[in-house]
Amino acid sequence: MSKVAIVTGASRGIGAAIAERLASDGFTVVVNYAGSAEPAEALVRKIEQAGGRALAAQADVADPAAVRRLFDSAEAAFGGVDVLVNNAGIMENAAVADSSDEMFDRHMAINVKGTFNGLREAAKRLRDGGRIVNFSSSVVGLYQPNYAVYAATKGAVEAMTHVLSKELRGRSITVNSVAPGPTATELFLKGKPQQAIDTLANLSPLQRLGQPSDIADAVSFLVSPNGGWINGQVLRANGGVI
Ligand code: NAP
Repeated sequence: MSKVAIVTGASRGIGAAIAERLASDGFTVVVNYAGSAEPAEALVRKIEQAGGRALAAQADVADPAAVRRLFDSAEAAFGGVDVLVNNAGIMENAAVADSSDEMFDRHMAINVKGTFNGLREAAKRLRDGGRIVNFSSSVVGLYQPNYAVYAATKGAVEAMTHVLSKELRGRSITVNSVAPGPTATELFLKGKPQQAIDTLANLSPLQRLGQPSDIADAVSFLVSPNGGWINGQVLRANGGVI
């Protein structure tokens, strides 16, 4: 019987690469999205055409009731949930002096409360032996200017990761965070001039941006039997930027 993984924010970017990778690893995958129904449905068709099993499910992770329904639909379709990849997130850059209340609240709602909403359901409903992977960022460590609000949300994600890994004692469920560095997705590329992209790509001694598949490889390891002894950790998947 194939294990069941919910990947939040899987319509595009890193989440889509994770959903595709976990499906090819043999997981049944719930492809969550907020607004991008068409790419999510297209990804499900692609997974099915490759012989996998998947379901697209709309839910704004910031809404606790929607996250409960996301787990309900996974359980109804596939009988239970083994893996939660809390990938959905947003990033807007601004200096502290220029950051609006709305920008702050949006980040807290999606990156912190959204992650928390998934963690609370997973803590109650994941089958024993399961896996949780949260999404931090290597800005926690790099602390560049204009990332204060975003970095604050990811610091909170790392804190919840460590605490929940201990709360789940006795259930054989691991809880880890993956913290990518600059990765070629819309979240990173949008609005950046080519020169800024090149500078950030060169932060890594490997001299390139991360690709979504690089991050999917790290998640694939953490949710596999080979990742079973990694618990309560933050894995910086960033090509060595920090
Ligand atoms: P992305 O390309 O912007 O994709 C974001 C995904 O999240 C989309 O599928 C989007 O769905 C979904 N999403 C956004 N708000 C949502 C909400 N409220 N509820 C449910 N889904 C929502 O971003 P990405 O670069 O793949 O980032 C994925 C994760 O990696 C994020 O947590 C990000 O902070 C982290 N990260 C990224 C980088 C990087 O350089 N790219 C670096 C470090 C960490 P819709 O299409 O439906 O809007």
